[in-house]
Amino acid sequence: MTESIKGVERFDSPGKGRGLRVTKPFKVGELLFSCPAYSYVLTVKERGCFCECCFTRKEGLAKCGKCKKAFYCNVKCQKADWAMHKLECSAMTAFGENWCPSEMSRLVARILAKKKTQKERCVSEKILLIGDVQSHVEDVDNEKREMTEVDVAGLHRFYSKHLEIPDHKDLLTLFSQVACNGFTIEDDELSHIGTAIYPDVALINHSCLPSVIVTYDGTSADIRAVKDMKPGDEVLISYIDLLYPTDDRNNRLRESYYFTCECQECKSRSMDKAKLKVRKQSDPFEPEVINNMVRYARKTIREFRAHKNIKTPSELLEMCEQSLDHMGAVFDDSNIYMLHMMYQAMGICLYMEDPEGAISYGEKIIKPYSKLYPPYSLNVSSMYLKLGRLYMGLEKHSAGISTLKKAMAIMEVAHGKNHLYLTELRKEIKKK
Ligand SMILES: [Zn+2]
Ligand SMILES: [Zn+2]
Ligand SMILES: [Zn+2]
Repeated sequence: MTESIKGVERFDSPGKGRGLRVTKPFKVGELLFSCPAYSYVLTVKERGCFCECCFTRKEGLAKCGKCKKAFYCNVKCQKADWAMHKLECSAMTAFGENWCPSEMSRLVARILAKKKTQKERCVSEKILLIGDVQSHVEDVDNEKREMTEVDVAGLHRFYSKHLEIPDHKDLLTLFSQVACNGFTIEDDELSHIGTAIYPDVALINHSCLPSVIVTYDGTSADIRAVKDMKPGDEVLISYIDLLYPTDDRNNRLRESYYFTCECQECKSRSMDKAKLKVRKQSDPFEPEVINNMVRYARKTIREFRAHKNIKTPSELLEMCEQSLDHMGAVFDDSNIYMLHMMYQAMGICLYMEDPEGAISYGEKIIKPYSKLYPPYSLNVSSMYLKLGRLYMGLEKHSAGISTLKKAMAIMEVAHGKNHLYLTELRKEIKKK
């Protein structure tokens, strides 16, 4: 670890390689440690809403006078960010609308720039410090390889003026490491804010029954217990969305992280039946019928993802509604494939500024969500938040306040009582 963290140590986790474990008890909601980002980047879409340097969300940020695209709290933040921002400032002006590196290329550019300033011998050494430096370059499938080639090309095209770019093979390794070890920074409603590298957090192994949760405070990551932990317990986070049944979770883990989970839940599959609940019928469905519908659901999810940036919002909403109609003949409303499409539909309604539509989906989602996710889940708190804020916006204050309070109960554990998000939330509740 970068520095020794009190109460937490590295160890060799059986079957998993390096991991972290606690050496003293931690209670639910207690902070194990905070980890500053080694490198980070604000997502392009959030420019102007967050400070590029410290990720403070506020109005009235001041913009960079040169490119007019980066925004800061003040001169201090602007100065502190210049070593990174200069990689993009003049290039953004020069390329104009054609400036379009992927977020991955942007982050890698920053890692390379940082490497240069710190004169490190080896980037990977620093990215993961002493963590799993496996890069899995050889495990990557064709589709991913193509995407990485696009990222590499983007790095050359948009950053070569300011960076010494390593040779192709080293770059592929670096991109693969960042893909496996990068963290997505999200806000309280789980909107994507940026991507970052946290060396100490990258040491934490995965479980579908996590003992800790990662939240973000500015650009730092906070690790808090969501279970009471005793000395010797491994620190475990979830790398993936835990809504899905065991086979789907492990497909995802193999695709993105190249391993299969062997946690208690993956062995017992105790939640799978509830997650794949079918409609009650006097004549139960044939297994064949259910299997076919699961195949249809997975195909629909893939298709929806592929079409997300191509089709219009109303076309996408129609896709959701059609699939919900079709699946609804077999699946219960609380089936996770139904919930997945309802969640997408809710997002589209929010985008189309249709609060009533969004509420109608949110109300169907929230109950099964709170049963199917683990007790302190950001997926659940963010759903309560969205729903509560929608009620408040429509002047439904008592429903709004009670829903926001449910979000708050989870966030006090996950984010800590003093997090800015909770201060904001208390103000929102008090206003009415
Ligand atoms: Zn700032
Ligand atoms: Zn600039
Ligand atoms: Zn598992």
